[in-house]
Amino acid sequence: MATTLRLILGDQLNHNHSWFTTVDDSVVYVMMEIRPESEYVRHHIQKQLAFFTAMRRFANWLRTRGHRVDYLTITDHRNQHSFLANCQMLVESLGATRFDFIEPDEYRLDQQLADVVAELGLDAAMVDSEHFLTSRTDLGDFFAGKKTYLMESFYRMMRRRHDVLMDGDGPRGGKWNLDTENRKPLPKNHQLPDRPGFANDVRDILIDIETAGLLSFGRVDATALRWPLDRRQALQALQQFVDIALPDFGRYQDAMTSSGSFLYHSLLSFALNVKLLHPREVIDAVVAAGDAHSRDIPFSAVEGFVRQILGWREYMRGIYWSTMPDYADQNYFGHTNRLPSWYWTGDTKMACLRHAITQSLDDAYAHHIQRLMITGNFALLAGIDPDEVGSWYLGIYIDAIEWVEITNTRGMSQFADGGLVATKPYVSSANYINKMSDYCMSCHYSRTLRTGEQACPFNSLYWDFFDRQRHLLGTNHRLSMVYRTLDKLSATDRDAIRRHAKSIRKNLDLL
Ligand code: FAD
Ligand code: SF4
Repeated sequence: MATTLRLILGDQLNHNHSWFTTVDDSVVYVMMEIRPESEYVRHHIQKQLAFFTAMRRFANWLRTRGHRVDYLTITDHRNQHSFLANCQMLVESLGATRFDFIEPDEYRLDQQLADVVAELGLDAAMVDSEHFLTSRTDLGDFFAGKKTYLMESFYRMMRRRHDVLMDGDGPRGGKWNLDTENRKPLPKNHQLPDRPGFANDVRDILIDIETAGLLSFGRVDATALRWPLDRRQALQALQQFVDIALPDFGRYQDAMTSSGSFLYHSLLSFALNVKLLHPREVIDAVVAAGDAHSRDIPFSAVEGFVRQILGWREYMRGIYWSTMPDYADQNYFGHTNRLPSWYWTGDTKMACLRHAITQSLDDAYAHHIQRLMITGNFALLAGIDPDEVGSWYLGIYIDAIEWVEITNTRGMSQFADGGLVATKPYVSSANYINKMSDYCMSCHYSRTLRTGEQACPFNSLYWDFFDRQRHLLGTNHRLSMVYRTLDKLSATDRDAIRRHAKSIRKNLDLL
């Protein structure tokens, strides 16, 4: 009987993929934990553990359904730590005559698997991942000929195309976007809900990782890894989000607090990105809950959440596939500074960065505004090389896979693409951080000062950034207010800001 080898990558754990609807003895599924995939960037230990555990559980699920699976663990003596060498070894031992694989989400893997196909020289096919709501080329086609790729237009097209929150041809409730209702800070003494995680005991996998000598960073309690790591847990996590957090998701979506990490966020990005959850089922669950409990769940929460999944997530994937590989080299401002050493320890006097980084080292998680307006904001103002920033985000977060990490980091956060994703740089002084969090209250620095030892570093860096980048940003109409305010400062003030910011940028490690 001619055998087919089918490769499943670590982020392709889609239980509902049509591959798995029939059991076929002539098909062998292969999954592998290979060294280059664990080492192309230094990963948080929770990310390594989550991937290996989810992959192993998926392989076991396939076996219980009767499928033939060959799984190469990181310590398997047969493992040659290369997609090609491992596939060649299996093709030979099984006498396979055909090689199939699922469309990878990353450019790097796309190239590698094309090489594998060429080298194997067998009949081969790449099949759809049956996960996304758009194809790789949909966004590029939609914006063909346009200079900027406005997310809002893409989002409206997606609402119409997928008939989500629609009323005829218009948006339900009359407005496409209710974001203005979604920008509240937490009230004083606000009690956050408990966000129970899963108690995954992953000690055996930790031993494998240590035995293999894989490098990592961050902290973990290997007796209780909190992230959903199989289909049952992923569905439970979705239900928990809807029950516990959805009603306040919108309202406090941008809020930050030193007394909690998760607030009202869904914590579903890992399960979504490894395909344990399908975006459509997540959208449907949220819309259904909103319909069933419209008194408790504001429509702005439902719309705000749908926009993240149906809009931003698909949009970022489209940006990725329409701009790679060039996107990975974009550096609009020509930034070259090194990331301060405290990004790896959290050991800084800046309370906002200390909290966001410490939390990321503890949980492999920070929510969107922490990533954008604390760690990303600082990196951009400090002129850090986008390659350094990208490696940090790609390593530290549980959900970091290049297609969604690089577009968010290089594009949305660092404006390194010159404004393809964001219409203006997402930067702020202490004002915004103080408005949206309680960080400044317990900070060594003073949020109201612009210069001097005690001054909040964000303040001088912010004005100095716009001053230095006037040649690139001065004509952006969304920044006219900023430049008007800058121009009202006296020459002496501007000079003091420049000098202070320069000294900060030279001594980032001391902050
Ligand atoms: P929620 O706040 O509950 O949002 C719900 C879901 O919407 C998320 O799970 C995610 O699937 C989707 N979503 C929300 N915002 C975005 C966005 N901007 N782009 C794509 N999807 C979005 N997300 C990743 O999945 N992987 C990354 O590596 C990643 N890196 C980021 C780096 C930076 C600098 C920034 C600013 C954002 C990044 N994001 C990334 C987007 C976003 O921050 C995370 O998706 C979110 O914080 C995950 O937590 P959650 O599941 O609780 O999300
Ligand atoms: Fe961050 Fe500045 Fe506020 Fe301190 S004062 S928490 S550094 S914004």
